[in-house]
Amino acid sequence: MKVLVSVKRVVDYNVKVRIKSDGTGVDVVNVKMSMNPFDEIAVEEAVRLKEAGVVSEVVAVSCGVAQAQETLRTALAIGADRAVLIESSEDLQPLAVAKLLKALVDREQPSLVLLGKQAIDDDSNQTGQMLAALANLPQATFASKVVVAGGKATVSREVDGGAETLSLTLPAVVTTDLRLNEPRYVTLPNIMKAKKKPLETIKPEDLGVDVTPRLKTLKVAEPPRRCAGVTVPDVKTLVEKLKTEAKVI
Ligand code: AMP
Repeated sequence: MKVLVSVKRVVDYNVKVRIKSDGTGVDVVNVKMSMNPFDEIAVEEAVRLKEAGVVSEVVAVSCGVAQAQETLRTALAIGADRAVLIESSEDLQPLAVAKLLKALVDREQPSLVLLGKQAIDDDSNQTGQMLAALANLPQATFASKVVVAGGKATVSREVDGGAETLSLTLPAVVTTDLRLNEPRYVTLPNIMKAKKKPLETIKPEDLGVDVTPRLKTLKVAEPPRRCAGVTVPDVKTLVEKLKTEAKVI
């Protein structure tokens, strides 16, 4: 059984992002880039399934610029067997990525496709759902537990107020939530081993996919600064201020 895992190269979650002065987007020049945290969880889950003997091959895929090879090498160091970079310098929006992944699913025929629930740069939370629709596959999003057995995946998913359990017939698409697992630290020997694992580079044209952006960003702006809070001496003053200053009661 083969698992396809998608990994996106994003601005590292520890970096405080800066908006470009012309308001056209986020400044990524000289900024630390890393694997999207939810994708790290997806790779970890795929590798655990392989270690448990449920899966025989883990293929990592990334769509984007040539530097996304580094992200794929990290996936290989965690334990993926081989990687595919779909290289493009275009601004790849969720629909374009979903189309590219669909084309790769057609080529690779995986039993399970694991994605993050969202990319922390665009926060779209769309790609997995779009892929499932395009490929006509069952989907379980926000997974906090995945059990694969007998041609089915049993997935607990995080919903408002609790967990929902779904049974999916494979092949299927699953997107990962934070509580699914805790990704391992990548060791130096595994980083060295990852350098020798196969990494194939293809272009969207090779898959016959048009990745032209459909959405246009009009403006990116910082959120308004919050004013400092004040401590009030008693409830009477608080109520007074809520009435006369905040005007909320
Ligand atoms: P999004 O819909 O943009 O929030 O992304 C959801 C998930 O789709 C991510 O966690 C990734 O697993 C996958 N994904 C999105 N964009 C890419 C990309 N450029 N390359 C690989 N995977 C991606």
